Amino acid sequence: PFGDQSVDARSKVRKLLKLFQLICRKLMQAEEQQLRNVGRIDLEAVEVLKKYDGYSKPDAIVGSVPGVVVGDEFHFRVELSIVGLHRIYQGGIDSAIVDGTRIAISIVASGGYPDELSSSDELIYTGSGGKATGKKEAEDQKLKGGNLALKNCIKTKTPVRVIHGFKGQSRSEVGHSKSKQISTYTYDGLYVVVDCWQEGASGSMVFKYKLKRIPGQPELALHIVKETRMSKVRKGLRCPDISLEKERIPICVINTIDDAQPTPFEYITKVIYPPSYAKEPPHGCDCTDGCSDSSRCACAVKNGGEIPFNFNGAIVHAKPLIYECGPSCRCPPTCHNRASQHGIKIPLEIFKTGETGWGVRSLSSISSGSFICEYAGELLQDTEAEKIENDEYLFDIGHNYDDEELWKGLPSMIPGLESSTSETMQEAVGFTIDAAKCGNVGRFINHSCSPNLYAQNVLWDHDDKRMPHIMFFAAENIPPLQELTYHYNYTIGQVRDKNGVEKVKECLCGSADCCHRLY
Ligand code: SAM
Repeated sequence: PFGDQSVDARSKVRKLLKLFQLICRKLMQAEEQQLRNVGRIDLEAVEVLKKYDGYSKPDAIVGSVPGVVVGDEFHFRVELSIVGLHRIYQGGIDSAIVDGTRIAISIVASGGYPDELSSSDELIYTGSGGKATGKKEAEDQKLKGGNLALKNCIKTKTPVRVIHGFKGQSRSEVGHSKSKQISTYTYDGLYVVVDCWQEGASGSMVFKYKLKRIPGQPELALHIVKETRMSKVRKGLRCPDISLEKERIPICVINTIDDAQPTPFEYITKVIYPPSYAKEPPHGCDCTDGCSDSSRCACAVKNGGEIPFNFNGAIVHAKPLIYECGPSCRCPPTCHNRASQHGIKIPLEIFKTGETGWGVRSLSSISSGSFICEYAGELLQDTEAEKIENDEYLFDIGHNYDDEELWKGLPSMIPGLESSTSETMQEAVGFTIDAAKCGNVGRFINHSCSPNLYAQNVLWDHDDKRMPHIMFFAAENIPPLQELTYHYNYTIGQVRDKNGVEKVKECLCGSADCCHRLY
């Protein structure tokens, strides 16, 4: 009942947003490397996106926007416009003329913090205009434009999309010297306007509107997070910290489904290499002024002449292989080319899912490009791994995810940016990580055919390309409590038992474009 949520519409929206976010990070990278001076990154990124084939000017849509679902999060106002949720960059009320009457189609309710979000399905919204500015004194708000359009929705019974804008700190930036306030816009679904009145002293009267959320829409995760944070006892808490203080942030285990506990394993934070293997530290860089000169930093050179992370720690885009600065480099541990080697920064929790055993999620919003965690375990030769009975926790190194498809053609659209040549990893180079006996939170991340994370090959403490670290990064903005997943990349029909017989496992990821087989 809430619009076209077809696989095609959803994947189009996700692709557009990924592309936009990638352009933003790319422009930010260029600015950080002092290659160019960008004014407003978001506005410039939209201009680049407009040149892209799949982009079309958003139509005025009444009701749900195809491909956008309740709970979707955005970090730039312009993203709301790109997907057609709220087409104007500044005003709070977007409107259109339908059957000769101007009606509101969406509002952005800004200000405040997520914790202040009212949990009732009612919203009081203040109209626009009337505020004092540098040149003008305050005046009564007028019943015209957006204000009139929103009032008209009472008689036309038009559903209005509501987006909440909050100020807050991005988790990926917590603890980082360049952390700054960022905004989050959360789509809350469709409301109807039930009342409109004027308030305030003469000369500064404002319009107030009462809106009611249309029943039957999914609950906003922010409400559940707020309740969870406020309650003293966490429902279903099985273990306060499965890492036993080995991680900087505790990782709790939540089970609200049954009485089960995870099967015991040893929590480790670092990959265990074969005893005979002597790790050799790579040749490092000599930078003492921040690894930002991509032509001088030896590590940037290894990355095709760029530092693959923004100053806030976000990965710019996936590549077959990334080199972080390491133990032989002269730069300090705070160098931004060390985004994934310091461990988990986003609070994660292990929870019992309905269908796929244990899974991983976060109570915080995660912004696209953030580092999540490593896949830690025991490093084995593939030949040894093949003999292992329990194959549930094996990660076969050698596949690589890259954004080449998405990124193709874009460099030419961004003036002054050349494409960097990225290293190609060899496929299936002979090593597997087994996290059955020893592992970290990464061992609990499930597969999805429509994942929100990807596995990035990273080298930092040695140069051996056969066994890079497997580091998970967010592929998009992830709202709180959404399960974190990556694509296991099995080739269907190619997974065999030790007698060579093909193994079949059903995929239960539940995504609309699920291909129904894990292997
Ligand atoms: N769910 C696991 C647990 O409870 O420990 C954590 C993930 S573990 C690395 C991989 C195993 O989880 C798989 O072998 C499979 O049994 C299960 N699994 C993960 N994703 C799945 C999916 N999409 N469909 C069905 N089973 C899945």
